[in-house]
Amino acid sequence: MGKREISEAVSARFEERRQAAEMQAMRRKSELQAALPALAALDRERAETATELMNAAFQGREGLEKRMGAIRERQKALLAKRAQILEKAGYPADYDAVKRRCDKCGDTGFVDGKMCPCMKREIVMEGYRRSGLGKLLERQRFDNFDLSRYSDSPLPGKSLSARDAMKTIYRDCMKWAQRFSLDAPSLLLIGNTGLGKTHLTSAMAKSAIDKGFDVLYLSVPTMLSRAEKERFIREGSEEETIVQQMLEAELLILDDLGAEPSSTLASSLIYTVVNERATVRNLPTIINTNLDMAHLERTYGAAVTSRLLGLFKVMHFVGSDLRIN
Ligand SMILES: [Zn+2]
Repeated sequence: MGKREISEAVSARFEERRQAAEMQAMRRKSELQAALPALAALDRERAETATELMNAAFQGREGLEKRMGAIRERQKALLAKRAQILEKAGYPADYDAVKRRCDKCGDTGFVDGKMCPCMKREIVMEGYRRSGLGKLLERQRFDNFDLSRYSDSPLPGKSLSARDAMKTIYRDCMKWAQRFSLDAPSLLLIGNTGLGKTHLTSAMAKSAIDKGFDVLYLSVPTMLSRAEKERFIREGSEEETIVQQMLEAELLILDDLGAEPSSTLASSLIYTVVNERATVRNLPTIINTNLDMAHLERTYGAAVTSRLLGLFKVMHFVGSDLRIN
């Protein structure tokens, strides 16, 4: 599910699209020729002019331009007549033309050896789709993260308000996204449900995808149930396992750590993935959790929590549930 797979999938789609457009044009041409005998005769005449052009080229250079020019004039006249026949019969003039979505590249995805913007756009969209975040990426952005929804009265025992604290977190997340590259620090977002962790995570994910990085988003309960299933799949299966995908994604996002029933599988999987990504592969990870540190330690053990504290930048989300207020 890496970058290469994404661009291969998009290339294949462009190829299919071109072939489908050509098939459709051919089908429509046969349909027209069957329905309109005058058009069929005219098309035969057009085919002859193509042969004539070739013959004209073989007759030597002298008078070549003139000979070819005359044939081209006839071709033009035939095309105009063809459009008339179609119009009279109630068809659009381009009814059996090969229809392309992009005029710039003719759906090849490339113009003068450079990737066409239409293909670039489709690769980004494919990245959104495969990331697992889907529609969230459109809805949850930095520009619609509303700080005014956090209270501006001081937090218990502090001079800071929830809004002050969240303003800092918001800015840090935005900076992280702007500078994102493979050596970006891993982040641990801690805080109760409804404080905007998923919102800021989606916004960060989108920046990474827009920069061309391969992002994988998984909620921990979903990830674990997939990992459980895969334990029973026979060995040697071609399919990439969820664990491989988690290890290889350029940015991995694990949402809702702690929402799953605690188990040894959960602890050991999370430890393996977090540890290998950080120390062997040097790849960034974002983890979101509703649990506080003490709770995390009770659930996953000291090994996991000390790994998280050592390798992740911790962000404490504060305030009261925004969905209720
Ligand atoms: Zn194009």
